[in-house]
Amino acid sequence: MTQYDNCSQCSEEVTEDSDFCPHCGVLFAAAERELCEIHRTINATGVCIICRKLVCPQCSKIVHGRTFCLDHKDVEVQQDWATVFESTEINDAELIKSVLEKAQYRVLVQNFGSIGYAWDGGGDSSQSRSNLSRPAKVFVPIPEYLEASKTVEEWQSSASNEGQ
Ligand SMILES: [Zn+2]
Ligand SMILES: [Zn+2]
Ligand SMILES: [Zn+2]
Repeated sequence: MTQYDNCSQCSEEVTEDSDFCPHCGVLFAAAERELCEIHRTINATGVCIICRKLVCPQCSKIVHGRTFCLDHKDVEVQQDWATVFESTEINDAELIKSVLEKAQYRVLVQNFGSIGYAWDGGGDSSQSRSNLSRPAKVFVPIPEYLEASKTVEEWQSSASNEGQ
């Protein structure tokens, strides 16, 4: 039986033997002697919730109480989901969604349907495109973000090669 505890920082459930909270990235007491993976002389203060790298205050950013490394500080997260793709072109977002679903990722979407098709045909006018201000977003669970974003990149590069 796995024992659960609650994170002292974000109150989410964590397994009792965890060294860090996967939801907010705070390091628990048992792991407080861990060193930052970049600055090997400085104690780590948290773990990037995207890549699980140990980070110190110099190489991390706290966003809404959650720890990110500098590589992932711009990844948008909502609850336990991370935005892996966003576009004001609903067709692109639909395509990425189906690519990820085919690769067996769990996928959530936002702003699908509420945007797009604002354009009433008749050429590619920049006027109508600028109306699509709320990008459609595709989310995957945070632990699957790195793999999923690789899948998206690979798909995008193979798609652009085919187009040539
Ligand atoms: Zn937490
Ligand atoms: Zn990271
Ligand atoms: Zn550091």
